[in-house]
Amino acid sequence: MALRNIVTNDMEFLGKKSRPVTNFDDKLATLVEDMRETLRKAQGAGLAAPQVGVLRRIFIADIHCDGTEYKEFINPEIISSSGKNDKYYEGCLSFPGRSFHIVRADKITMRAQNVKGETFAFEADDFVARCLQHEFDHLEGITIPMIGEEVFENE
Ligand SMILES: [Zn+2]
Repeated sequence: MALRNIVTNDMEFLGKKSRPVTNFDDKLATLVEDMRETLRKAQGAGLAAPQVGVLRRIFIADIHCDGTEYKEFINPEIISSSGKNDKYYEGCLSFPGRSFHIVRADKITMRAQNVKGETFAFEADDFVARCLQHEFDHLEGITIPMIGEEVFENE
């Protein structure tokens, strides 16, 4: 395993759309493990492959909000979403030190594949639902400076 460099403040690269994963091979498993190590070190809630320079539809997320499991979502799709959540400011490891106000769906169901290529459905609400939507956006080339209102500390 190895730490990967996190792409920061590069709107051109982070604005690209990622391609689907087609090979569920050792290279993919290594990438996902590297992303886990990188996210653990950075103490973030989620990390998408484009943030480590790989334009593939992969992200990981801290699904228990305690750093015990960074679950991988490969070729994810949002199959349902409901409600509105504007409770949190949102940050991004690719835009260190900045936060944004963004309204997200409060509850979502996602379908994705794991590193073995097995399909699963995953339901989340509140903070985790927000995290999944944020990471999914990265795969579409959408980052929080594009959709959020920046929040400054002394406001
Ligand atoms: Zn992000």
